Amino acid sequence: MTTHGTPANEAQQRALALLARVGIPQPAEAMLKYPHQFSGGQRQRLMIAMALAFKPDILIADEPTTALDVTVQAQVLALLEELQAETGMGLLLITHDLGVVAEIADRVVVMNSGRIVETGDAAEVYRNPQHPYTKKLIGAAPGKGAMPAERDRGGEPLLKVEGLSKHYGAFQALKGVSFRIMPGETVAVVGESGSGKSTLARALLRLDEPSGGQALYKGRDLVTMVPKELFGLRRQIQMVFQDPTQSLNPRMSVYQLIAEAWAIHPEILPRPKWRERVADLLTKVGLSPDMAQRYPHQFSGGQRQRIAIARALALEPRLIICDEAVSALDVSIQAQIIALLEGLRREFGLSYLFIAHDLPVVRDFADRVIVMKQGEIVEEGAVRQIFEAPRHPYTRALLAAGLDPDPEVQARRRAARTAEGLLTA
Ligand code: ADP
Ligand code: MG
Repeated sequence: MTTHGTPANEAQQRALALLARVGIPQPAEAMLKYPHQFSGGQRQRLMIAMALAFKPDILIADEPTTALDVTVQAQVLALLEELQAETGMGLLLITHDLGVVAEIADRVVVMNSGRIVETGDAAEVYRNPQHPYTKKLIGAAPGKGAMPAERDRGGEPLLKVEGLSKHYGAFQALKGVSFRIMPGETVAVVGESGSGKSTLARALLRLDEPSGGQALYKGRDLVTMVPKELFGLRRQIQMVFQDPTQSLNPRMSVYQLIAEAWAIHPEILPRPKWRERVADLLTKVGLSPDMAQRYPHQFSGGQRQRIAIARALALEPRLIICDEAVSALDVSIQAQIIALLEGLRREFGLSYLFIAHDLPVVRDFADRVIVMKQGEIVEEGAVRQIFEAPRHPYTRALLAAGLDPDPEVQARRRAARTAEGLLTA
């Protein structure tokens, strides 16, 4: 292989050095692997290594960390900064995340509808935005509101999980987790990717059969329930995923997607009422009733997530499990969806199990937080306790790695991170 006419041997040596430099373990073996054999964070490091092979004067990074969880995100950003310091290259970083801006940028350029609306020193723009669009962006950034005090919720839990476990062969993805969700409560699950969050959601719904433990929903065990009974109860527990395009059949209209629920569970609503209820539900999630005849591809990502929520609501659930349901949306849309979920909670007394790697969103939305690491719950507490007085070192590391849109807060986190050496890859 030659690059730029570099002799093969030299190219080989440079490639090895670059892989080592971007923090790929065992570079010699890595050279023989294919992209799918690496984690998301490692693939991002590979992309950076490829870009650096050309010794660029300017590196353009387009949303380089959007899909990564907080600790990996902080590592990739730290890598970009180190490389920049070494090579003196300029970095043009494109992001929708103000936390990333606060972490890494010297200057910021704000764009809206193809135009630059504002530019300036990053900290100054955050402190003192001039353009209405910039003000709106900063206003929508999550993680700034007051956190609720812990409420004493008497009564019976809606869901009581005891020692729930799941193994895939010899690998234990879920090692006996126990927690409760009260009616009307939002319980968030945080933890880096691979910690078992989605496995927990799938095991609860028996999308993947649990290996052991109990999940008592209103006192009845979902784990051992016979299929017929499970079918009846399952409609009270709905799930909303990160990528709505995967859960919305592209060949079905919005009307069909929502009304399908009642075809499967006719006891909920007789057919003559379907049209009117679809219109109600669309209004409820902030869409207009005439959108019922459209197809999923005719909507934006945020609108598709609203459709997925309307579809979940059609079954009149008591509990909605959101697995990274707002992670792919940008801040202002994220804020709108969270406001929608919050409104629905108030109106219907819904409970949420809210899985997210985005800590500011969790801080705004959750009553209680469960912190997972390697298939176990390492800490659980009221949202205020978790964010203001985390007890477990892993929780502290997660919080320090998380980004805050406020450059001053972010500078403090950075200092904490460096002091505790939390992010050594
Ligand atoms: P999270 O949602 O927290 O990112 P997951 O629950 O998806 O994590 O995964 C937890 C662990 O279980 C990971 O190590 C993952 O590779 C593993 N895992 C998940 N699903 C399977 C499966 N179907 N077969 C084997 N291993 C799996
Ligand atoms: Mg997951």
